[in-house]
Amino acid sequence: MAKSNDSLSNLITALKALPNVGTKSAQRIAYHLLQHNRAGAERIVATLSDALAKVRHCRLCNTFCEDELCRICADEKRDATRLMIVQMPVDIAGMEDAHCHDGHYFVLMGHIDPTQGKDLGHIELEKLVQRIADNPIEEVIIATNFTAQGNATAFVLYEILKQYPCKISRLSHGMPLGGEIEYIDAGTLAQSVYERKRLKD
Ligand SMILES: [Zn+2]
Repeated sequence: MAKSNDSLSNLITALKALPNVGTKSAQRIAYHLLQHNRAGAERIVATLSDALAKVRHCRLCNTFCEDELCRICADEKRDATRLMIVQMPVDIAGMEDAHCHDGHYFVLMGHIDPTQGKDLGHIELEKLVQRIADNPIEEVIIATNFTAQGNATAFVLYEILKQYPCKISRLSHGMPLGGEIEYIDAGTLAQSVYERKRLKD
């Protein structure tokens, strides 16, 4: 390959790091940015570089933040005895918009999916167990999605956490089957938290 093409092929290879982007999509993105949106490409470079340097995981809840603790974990008015477990940071935003939980969160940063070989290594389980073992948690609310993966994750979490002396609940099935928290309206979400199903007292 001619030397002038090396940068382009490197870019296409790098873009394949994006989720659901294969060679064809990577080529389209690269061509689009270089031909039509160089300013946008510069912004991606600058903001991605800035985010890589600054964004880290909250020490307590594991969500993305820029300090040792996120805004919610640092807020002393929140009820630290109730811990809601969600899959992704975006789920926290949904819950906060629904104003249905004034406790703390823990973000798994993923889910378990036995059919895809996504085992316990795909979630931040050790950090979660540490969190529950080290803090006086009275209730754990499992708020994973009502998808096959979310339910599998909820099942495994329950099996692991039931040994701890805290109540365990799961969002009620007011959530539609296959429902992902990210896309549920605030009213339905709040109801599924208020009517959560107690799995263990
Ligand atoms: Zn936090």
